[in-house]
Amino acid sequence: MKITAAVTREKGSFNFETVELAEPKANEALVKMVACGICHTDFAVIEQFLPIRFPYLAGHEGAGVIEKIGPGVTDLSVGDRVVMSFPSCGKCDNCKAGRPYACETNFECFFGGNLRGGSTRLTGEDGAEIGVMFGQGSFATYAVADQSNTIKIDVDSDEELAQLCSLGCGVQTGAGAVLNRMAPRPGTSLAVFGCGTVGLSGLMGAKIAGCGMIVGVDVSPARLAMAKELGATHVINGKDEDAAARIMELTGGKGINYALEASGNPDVTLTMLECMARAGMAVLVSVTGPAAVPIILEKHIMNPSVTIAGAVEGWSNPKVFIPELVRFYKDGRLPVDKLSKFYDFKDMGKALKDFHDGAAIKPILRF
Ligand SMILES: [Zn+2]
Ligand SMILES: [Zn+2]
Repeated sequence: MKITAAVTREKGSFNFETVELAEPKANEALVKMVACGICHTDFAVIEQFLPIRFPYLAGHEGAGVIEKIGPGVTDLSVGDRVVMSFPSCGKCDNCKAGRPYACETNFECFFGGNLRGGSTRLTGEDGAEIGVMFGQGSFATYAVADQSNTIKIDVDSDEELAQLCSLGCGVQTGAGAVLNRMAPRPGTSLAVFGCGTVGLSGLMGAKIAGCGMIVGVDVSPARLAMAKELGATHVINGKDEDAAARIMELTGGKGINYALEASGNPDVTLTMLECMARAGMAVLVSVTGPAAVPIILEKHIMNPSVTIAGAVEGWSNPKVFIPELVRFYKDGRLPVDKLSKFYDFKDMGKALKDFHDGAAIKPILRF
């Protein structure tokens, strides 16, 4: 079928093209797109900060309605509302053990351009295959995705579905880093560095987990105001204050029990390590390329018994975790709709610009 897709053929740009999307094959579903969030990784792909093979279709927070299913699809039906999440190979030891976030070929699965079966269903007018991001390619009116990264969610309207598209990546990454990786004890303290969608989702996760002190750190007053609204007990503007010193002061010199690095600024990891409590845990979730920082092993890690951990996509199994997040949303405990700003698909250029400039925390394209 003919669909409209925002295809990238050259670094840093995209064009709306009419392209051919083939029928879903075994274990795949055709999704009519309702909405797609924009995430920093879409920039990394379009700007080719990652080794992407063009032509390529970005978009990895797609949400829509199942229009057709291929043979062997067992847990999706026509008419289901779904969000698409990150793909995994399904064959390696970690995938088999229910840890798809640690798939041994996650880079190729995320960015290689193919669905789980090893090819894409999308071809351009020239007949050449177009790679799709995260086994979906959701900057398009339709997508074909494998059932393993297509998650049915229990919502009553397309409006509600559109609010939840970022559960597939950004929200899952932040909330999961806290709820799945840190699993903080009630009453403990937690700081979030970087209050975009990922950091704010971590902050909402900290509130769900019952953390006592919740600190939001950012350089944007608007984002800090949002952090307060979502449950931060304290906020720190890292431009005006030494965040580590302020956190030591707030905690009576003990330091913070848990910290989430969601700013994408490598130096922030050092700031975090300067204010960790003994036996605390610092979790990194940002893509920072080859950046390196000078960690002092004894001071930062060994003597205080601190754990530094990485968590891709919130350490989550999306088939289990995304429906949990939907229940938190419905209970009013994960108000991700407060982050949303909607744009028509045709205004994707403006949405990307607003995201880049900080005018939108979570731009969402509507189809
Ligand atoms: Zn795998
Ligand atoms: Zn993402």
